Amino acid sequence: AAMILLASELERSFGETPALRGASLQVERGEMLAIMGPSGSGKSTLLHCLAGILTPSSGTVSFDGVRIDGLSEDARSTLRRERFGFVFQFGQLVPELSALENVALPLLLNGVRRSAAVKQAAPWFARLGLDGLERRRSGELSGGQAQRVALARGLVAGPEVLFADEPTGALDSLTGEQVMDLLVEVARAEGTTVVLVTHEARVAAYADREVIVRDGRVTSPALTA
Ligand code: ADP
Ligand code: ADP
Repeated sequence: AAMILLASELERSFGETPALRGASLQVERGEMLAIMGPSGSGKSTLLHCLAGILTPSSGTVSFDGVRIDGLSEDARSTLRRERFGFVFQFGQLVPELSALENVALPLLLNGVRRSAAVKQAAPWFARLGLDGLERRRSGELSGGQAQRVALARGLVAGPEVLFADEPTGALDSLTGEQVMDLLVEVARAEGTTVVLVTHEARVAAYADREVIVRDGRVTSPALTA
């Protein structure tokens, strides 16, 4: 199968604290993969290495057949902006900007003109059940609305991979399910590969496949029973 992301033997520490200790993972193009595991096991650090946010101290990460672990900060920043999308648990929206401006932001950062960016961002509101909220300051949205805006922002530029770190972690379970239903529906429609970090089995159940991180290593669920 065509692997879009390949991580091999990743190691990374924060000071004396080891976060990754030989983590390896493959992600197939178009799949939705859930990374599960207890708090502190290294899930976010693994996602950050896959997404070019952090560099591993050893091991390799390849995206679309190209090594990205040794790229400069500038090159990784460009890669993230042009080819990846992100949804996090908290605080990813700019509260003073309108919901529409928040969704348009990745396009503006990619050099799209304001009028074109707004035109491209607008249809996401109907698509994610956010009709009428375009001009609302994002700081005034409910938690579920804010996460749907964040999802639109993560997908608006047509990323090849959407990285989602506990995207429902701040939501009650019903609202979280609504966000996950939309995430799956839209990612499938766009053919976007999704790498999802969650510690909740109910959220991981939306994925095509799951792996477990324990003590900085990736194991398959069958091996951890
Ligand atoms: P998870 O996402 O599974 O909760 P993390 O990858 O966030 O795990 O963290 C793995 C380990 O690395 C934890 O012990 C955590 O405290 C530590 N860690 C992660 N990021 C940092 C950081 N920026 N500075 C210091 N320690 C960190
Ligand atoms: P998660 O487990 O979802 O990553 P955390 O609250 O552990 O949530 O981490 C949130 C952010 O803080 C991450 O970017 C992580 O790298 C960083 N972080 C985690 N642990 C530490 C720590 N001990 N010191 C500093 N930063 C940390």
